[in-house]
Amino acid sequence: MNLRAKHIPMRRCISCRSSKPKEQLLRFFKDSNNTWHFDKTQKAQARGSWICNDSLDCYKSKYLKRYFGQSYHNILEEIKLNTKFQDISSLVKGE
Ligand SMILES: [Zn+2]
Repeated sequence: MNLRAKHIPMRRCISCRSSKPKEQLLRFFKDSNNTWHFDKTQKAQARGSWICNDSLDCYKSKYLKRYFGQSYHNILEEIKLNTKFQDISSLVKGE
């Protein structure tokens, strides 16, 4: 066993539940008021959760509503403003 092998931190997507290197996910965190936010730096000192950054399917509103609850609309806005998933509106409209 080579202990020098680079350790790759894996994170699990809350929607599709697959584990990936964290570069392949977006991070979200919950602030002290229990409101969820998109974590641009991926370093917020707070509880974090992850969603794939390569699959629009992981941003379906059924997943986001279930996980983010009251913060759903907030999260939606932050995703639209800060990520490549501007198309998220089309997923939401369809439901
Ligand atoms: Zn996913």
